[in-house]
Amino acid sequence: MLPVIALVGRPNVGKSTLFNRLTRSRDALVADLPGLTRDRKYGQGQLDECSYIVIDTGGITGDEAGIDKAMAQQSLYAIEEADVVLFIVDGRSGLNQADEMIADHLRRSNKPFRLVVNKTDGIDENVAMADFYGLGVGQPIPIAASHGRGVSQLMELVLEPYLLLSIKDEAEKDDYKDTIRIAIIGRPNVGKSTLVNRMLGEERVVVFDQAGTTRDSIYIPYEREDKKYTLIDTAGVRRRKHITEAVEKFSIVKTLQAIRDSNVVVMVVDAREGVTEQDLHMLGFIIDSGRALVIALNKWDGMTSEHKEKVREQIRRRLEFVAFARMHFISAKHGTGVGDLYGSIHEAFDSAMAKWSTNKLTRLLEDIVADHQPPSVHTHRIKLRYAHQGGSNPPIIVVHGNQTDSLPISYKRYLENRFVKLLKIRGTPIRFEFKTGD
Ligand code: GDP
Ligand code: GDP
Repeated sequence: MLPVIALVGRPNVGKSTLFNRLTRSRDALVADLPGLTRDRKYGQGQLDECSYIVIDTGGITGDEAGIDKAMAQQSLYAIEEADVVLFIVDGRSGLNQADEMIADHLRRSNKPFRLVVNKTDGIDENVAMADFYGLGVGQPIPIAASHGRGVSQLMELVLEPYLLLSIKDEAEKDDYKDTIRIAIIGRPNVGKSTLVNRMLGEERVVVFDQAGTTRDSIYIPYEREDKKYTLIDTAGVRRRKHITEAVEKFSIVKTLQAIRDSNVVVMVVDAREGVTEQDLHMLGFIIDSGRALVIALNKWDGMTSEHKEKVREQIRRRLEFVAFARMHFISAKHGTGVGDLYGSIHEAFDSAMAKWSTNKLTRLLEDIVADHQPPSVHTHRIKLRYAHQGGSNPPIIVVHGNQTDSLPISYKRYLENRFVKLLKIRGTPIRFEFKTGD
């Protein structure tokens, strides 16, 4: 499971600056709660092998009414969702009453948290921190988010317990070899629950009644035509106990965890609304995770042919960057097209898990290079010698040669396209690494 880290503190202490430094902000997902000026923002970060989720919040002023109250509410949600809270304070403005209030809340919340003193650039760190010992919440950690100073040390400290776990996770994955793990994800109300019910409808399903928090998905193992699957249900349809869950059955943390934990993601989009910004951000996360992908355009029933044509056109434009994924027009409500998803799920899974010998990859590389040679740099031709497979789900192809650092992007694209075509890869992103030497 990805550890979840929440950034909490007063407005203007530097939470967003830290968030941007920890994540690739282009992929920030914003919680879909209407009527708030500043929602929770979600991003993904990475330290060595350990990926994590970061949540940014609007801030707590200690003086909550109106909009501020909504902002504080966001922070409270974020604290609830987090494994670890980073409590950020401003080393320049010193201790403030709102800081005391937040410290108080955190102490009572039973969440692990760390006190982080930001903006310590160009000032005496020890002086800046002195004030904050008074909060009585442990040793403050100094950083300068805008310069990046102290940030990786901070994350090493915070993520230490998870670094070991993430290695173990990888090993455990082997136990699941004979089952395809399918995550059903999508924005609220696109029809995930309806689809989950439909996919499980005719099957004999054994549901393990897992205890867990609202941020956990339900894992449903089942069989269909003698093949084994585990459905990762982010909509929580099969969770009967927690009725209150309806309040926030959609959770971004849950979505990101599910993507991470799956082999194949079925991304559900509401065809009537078309592809939204939020959908695109979610797809961005799926690509980053390297998971195989099938796109289901749902609610394709009862649409006029003009409307359908308009949606098709928009999809062609907006989803070009995920052209590797099969697209299905379905109606979860009526069941139309749902069975066909399985063909694409299998195709994507098989591509994502395929194993190729070094011999085969090297032969292909030689053919591809013979068709079209890499360019020369400083009169020396770049040589590509052999290729081997570096991983699966997503497949990684490692190409060895000399001066591979100088390979132009256009040539890398050519290689990638040809490999994808020759290996008949469909439904999964594929990664290439280039190594010079040996
Ligand atoms: P947020 O409201 O907590 O998200 O705060 P922001 O990230 O928007 O930052 C508030 C202000 O503090 C901005 O003007 C930032 O440029 C500035 N800031 C953030 N981090 C640092 C830092 O490490 N050093 C200094 N000097 N300024 C910072
Ligand atoms: P979730 O929030 O993504 O789990 O979405 P739900 O499965 O709860 O569906 C949201 C609404 O869309 C419900 O009113 C469903 O009945 C409706 N819905 C789901 N799938 C379809 C579909 O294929 N066609 C139509 N017309 N409505 C659908």
